[in-house]
Amino acid sequence: MSNVLLKVEDLKKYFPIRTGLFSRKTGDVKAVDGISFEVFEGETLGIVGESGCGKSTTGRVIMRLHEATDGRVTFDGVELNSLSNDAMRKVRREIQMVFQDPYASLNPRHSIGKILEEPLIVHGIGTAAERKKKVIEFLEVVGLSAYHAKRYPHQFSGGQRQRIGIARALMTNPKLIIADEPVSALDVSIQAQVLNLMKRLQEDLKLTYIFIAHDLGVVRHISDRVGVMYLGKMVELSNSEELYENPLHPYTQALLSAVPVPDPGFERDQILLKGDIPSPADPPTGCTFHTRCPLAIELCKQQVPQFLEVKSGHYVACHLVNDTSH
Ligand code: SF4
Repeated sequence: MSNVLLKVEDLKKYFPIRTGLFSRKTGDVKAVDGISFEVFEGETLGIVGESGCGKSTTGRVIMRLHEATDGRVTFDGVELNSLSNDAMRKVRREIQMVFQDPYASLNPRHSIGKILEEPLIVHGIGTAAERKKKVIEFLEVVGLSAYHAKRYPHQFSGGQRQRIGIARALMTNPKLIIADEPVSALDVSIQAQVLNLMKRLQEDLKLTYIFIAHDLGVVRHISDRVGVMYLGKMVELSNSEELYENPLHPYTQALLSAVPVPDPGFERDQILLKGDIPSPADPPTGCTFHTRCPLAIELCKQQVPQFLEVKSGHYVACHLVNDTSH
């Protein structure tokens, strides 16, 4: 296995709930509640879960767009949490984000050329002429053309705008890209094109990706490993093939049962989960999935299951799986 590029240890992000005239703190929304994982150089780690599970917050805390409540993030051997703002700004050259809605993240009043040049200006990279050259180079890298630099975001389709979002992320030669639902807003046919582009860029530019999505089907095609999150915790993590063929956590099994299977001879019974995701401001005791889990036993209400490696590289947090593995 290659080197560890990013290490996340017991990361927590709680957002305070404030109420009343004096905005007194009355509780916390536990958006991310103690997750640990590693990302290896050159791989794609998919992070999947329903909305509100904390997957996007995880990406933002790694970038320190939100400060962590607790835990540690180490990137390329450097612990990020204790860095000064100035030092963190330098690290952001190497970690870039691609967002779900490129339109919202592209300034509508700026030309594409200006939008792509901006990260270079912010980080003091190159002369004006070098920056212009790089803008054109990266427009072409993502399948657009030099003349697009003069156009404005509204003149592009959704798929093209996401290509621009990807080009912008690449401008500073990052090592890690955190892509937060990068194809969720696109038509299915365009999704495949953008995913293929991301794969090609990964090979050509030796990139490492964290690919965040709510859809296990989308993540499958691009991820080497996949982590599944539920209510601020990671409940299962494994290499993709193993996860799709042998999901061990009941929540992963339910999510996968909703993904259409391409092989007509092989069908999965759909597992319908009862109820909605509980509020992260008031998560259930024990295993937070127990209120919806078809296999829950009494122990699940009382004790938090540990996130354990039950097979080589396959981690699960479930009392039933952990018991049978001994
Ligand atoms: Fe279900 Fe219990 Fe396993 Fe949680 S620990 S997933 S409630 S069986």
